[in-house]
Amino acid sequence: MTSPSAADRPSSVLGLIGLTPIVELTRFDIGPCRLFAKLESQNPGGSIKDRVALSMIAAAERDGRLKPGGTIIEATAGNTGLGLAQVGLPKGYRLILIVPDKMSREKIQHLRALGADVRITRSDVGKGHPDYYQDRAEALAASIPGSFYVNQFANPANPLAHETTTGPEILSALDGDVDAVVVGVGSGGTLTGLGRFFRRASPKTRMVLADPLGSVLAPLINTGTLIEAGSWAVEGIGEDFVPPNADLSLVSAAYSIPDAESMATARDLLKREGILAGSSSGTLLAAALRYCREQTEPKRVVTLVCDTGAKYLSKVYDDAWIAEQGLATRAAYGDLRDLVVRSHREGGTITVSPEDTLLTAYKRMRGADVSQLPVVSDNRLVGLIDESDVLAAVGTKAQVRDHRFLSSVRDAMVTDLHTVDVHQPVASVLPLFDRGEVALVVDGADFLGLVTPVDFINHLRLTS
Ligand code: PMP
Repeated sequence: MTSPSAADRPSSVLGLIGLTPIVELTRFDIGPCRLFAKLESQNPGGSIKDRVALSMIAAAERDGRLKPGGTIIEATAGNTGLGLAQVGLPKGYRLILIVPDKMSREKIQHLRALGADVRITRSDVGKGHPDYYQDRAEALAASIPGSFYVNQFANPANPLAHETTTGPEILSALDGDVDAVVVGVGSGGTLTGLGRFFRRASPKTRMVLADPLGSVLAPLINTGTLIEAGSWAVEGIGEDFVPPNADLSLVSAAYSIPDAESMATARDLLKREGILAGSSSGTLLAAALRYCREQTEPKRVVTLVCDTGAKYLSKVYDDAWIAEQGLATRAAYGDLRDLVVRSHREGGTITVSPEDTLLTAYKRMRGADVSQLPVVSDNRLVGLIDESDVLAAVGTKAQVRDHRFLSSVRDAMVTDLHTVDVHQPVASVLPLFDRGEVALVVDGADFLGLVTPVDFINHLRLTS
C-alpha cells in the first residue's frame, strides 16, 4: 500500500469515517457463492454508526434544531452514542445518552471516557414503559429546553447516510455486481438506506434480513404476524416493534438466528479469518452463510461487520460468559459439574498458593472482581481466603504499611473447609449457602472449583 499524500491526509479523525474496506471471506462453507464483508468496524468509533452520527448532526445543524452549545440526547445501544460523541463533543455540544443495561461494559466505559453523560436504564421493559430507553430519552429531551432528541429510529438523516455513502461504496467496490446484501435492523437505517440505494442503482440486488431469535421483525416478514417479543443477548439489532425507519417491504428473505449461533459464528470469524467482530456481525454472518448455502446458482453476497469485537471481549470472547448465558454446547450431568463454570482443571479458577503474599491475594481478588480465593497447593485445596480475612490480617497489625501486605496467605487463610464431592446432586450446596459459606467442589482429592450462590441462581435461570 502507498502512504497517503499530504493532500489526502484528513484534518481530523472525522475524515476517516466511511470508505471502509471490503474483504472476501474464503474460509467458510458458502455453497456456490462468493461472500464479502464490509468492515464498518474500521470507523474511528469502531462501528457503522459513525456515518449516521455525522449525517444526523449535520442535518440538525442545517435546519436549526441544534444550535451552538446545545444538548444532544439519544437512546442508544451504545454505538450511535459513540458516533455522536466522536462527532458532537469536539464541536462543543453536551451529550446525554440513555443506554439499556444489557449493553457491554466496554461500550459504556468508552462513552464515559469520551465525555458523554451516560444514563443506564432497564432492558427488560418494552416501548411505552417510562423506563424503556427510547421513552426515557424522549421525556428527558422534553424537559431540557433547546435540546435535540436525535431519535435514530425515525430520523431521515439516518437511512440517508447509508443511501448516499455505504451503498455506493459497496457497489463500486464490487464492480457494480452485487446479488444480495445481508443486514440487521436496530433502527432500520442500514436496511432502508441500502435498500433504497440498491433498488435504484442495482435492481437485481436482494436485501436479506438477519434478525436475532426473539425479535419480532423476521417473523413479521415470514408469517405476517406480529409476535410477542422475546429476549436475546446480541447487541444492537433485533426489535420489539417496527421502527419508523425500517422499511420491511425492501426485504426479500429473513432469518431468525439464535444467540448461540450468533456468538459461535462471531468467534469463528475471528478464528478463521482473523476478523474481530461484535455479536451482531455474528448474526449477520450466520444468516449470510445460510443464504449462501441455500443458493443453487453462484451469487455475490455482501454482509457487514457492524462493529469491532473489542467492545465485547468480556462477553462474546469470554468462555465463562458464554457458559453463564447458556450459549455453550456443554453436556448436562445432573450433578455439581453443571455448576462449576470455571473449572480449576482447565485453568479457569483464580486461586492463590499458601506461600503467596496478602498483596498478591488482594490484587487477584480485585483483578478478577471476586471476594474470595481458594488456596491451592499441588492441585489440593488447603484453604480459603476472603476479603474479611485479608482485612483482619492487614487492618489490625501495627506494622508499617508496606510490610503488613507481605505476610503470607497461609497465616490469614481459613483451613476448616467443608468440601462437596462433584458427583453430589446440585441441591447439595444449598445447606452450605444457608450457613453463609461457598461450596468448594472436589473430585476425590483434586480441587475442581468454587460454586457461589450467584452460580446457583444462574443455573436455576438456565434450567427453569
Ligand atoms: N449492529 C450494531 C452493533 C449496532 O449497534 C447497530 C445499530 N443499533 C446495528 C448493527 C444496526 O444498524 P441500524 O440501526 O442501521 O439498523
